[in-house]
Amino acid sequence: MKPAAFEYERAYTVDEALVLLSQSTDARLLAGGQTLGPMLNLRLVQPQLLVDITRIKALVRSEINANTVTLGACVSHAAIEDARMPDATHGFLPRVASGIAYRAVRNRGTIGGSLANADPTADWLSCFTALEAQILISGPKGGRTSSIDKFVTGAMETTLEAGEMINGVRFPTLSKGARCGYAKISRKPGEFADAIAAIVHDPDNGRCRVVVGTTNGVPRQLAIDPLALSASAPLPQKLNSGAVREQLARHLPATDVYGLNIQCAVIERALANAHQITS
Ligand SMILES: Cc1cc2nc3c(=O)[nH]c(=O)nc-3n(C[C@H](O)[C@H](O)[C@H](O)COP(=O)(O)OP(=O)(O)OC[C@H]3O[C@@H](n4cnc5c(N)ncnc54)[C@H](O)[C@@H]3O)c2cc1C
Repeated sequence: MKPAAFEYERAYTVDEALVLLSQSTDARLLAGGQTLGPMLNLRLVQPQLLVDITRIKALVRSEINANTVTLGACVSHAAIEDARMPDATHGFLPRVASGIAYRAVRNRGTIGGSLANADPTADWLSCFTALEAQILISGPKGGRTSSIDKFVTGAMETTLEAGEMINGVRFPTLSKGARCGYAKISRKPGEFADAIAAIVHDPDNGRCRVVVGTTNGVPRQLAIDPLALSASAPLPQKLNSGAVREQLARHLPATDVYGLNIQCAVIERALANAHQITS
């Protein structure tokens, strides 16, 4: 099937993109097109106007300072995978990027497109939730920032309002001793995951998150104390598996035994992965 006819405009600045968005009641941003392309082809969406934001230089920025790391919305998965920009996550982000789909998708797919889409099985959603990211949003009323926890309200649902766009994502700088682990289980490489877990443990900064993706809604954070995990003590080699299972069963009530088993396994793998990292 071919898409319905649409207008196409390319924006070169965020302001231009916002003006273009405001000029149509039915405009869509085009980033990597890896989700939007198939949706257009299947006529699941039939926008009047596509606003191409991939040439906006500000959206491919990468800034690292003492306290935060900021990535522009149009940074591609491949750019992160190839470490074309400085990596401040001890290899965590490049590892996550390298497991997304396959190279052709990673070349074009962007973090902003992925976060705007808010697919529970998407890798960046769990990863940036574990990193306690803030979503930087530009809109007709100016800029605003939202924690990723509040930004994503459900499967494929966010608080983005009409005329707004994701400008970037920002997360706290990790200390040298931080450990981050990621694992996912997919039936075949390149497919969306059946189970995802992300762990970020940064005792020097008193931060620790264990996040489970592939829920029917938002990524879930596990309470860390029952897991025998502490934000201020070294990362243990093992978690309290009973507590892991109990929390998963509570967060994912509709999940069958197989589903719970793979969720437990993926958390163990994420922990093992975190221990493999040397900064
Ligand atoms: C075969 C295949 C396999 C895939 N496998 C995986 C996988 O394993 N893991 C994974 O995480 N992802 C996977 N993806 C998704 C892919 O990685 C992209 O991240 C995703 O398609 C969206 O990014 P995009 O840049 O292509 O966005 P687009 O397709 O261009 O846009 C997606 C949506 O977001 C909106 N949008 C785009 N940018 C912005 C912005 N800055 N602000 C606000 N709204 C915006 C668009 O208007 C559109 O509604 C897969 C995709 C394909 C086609």
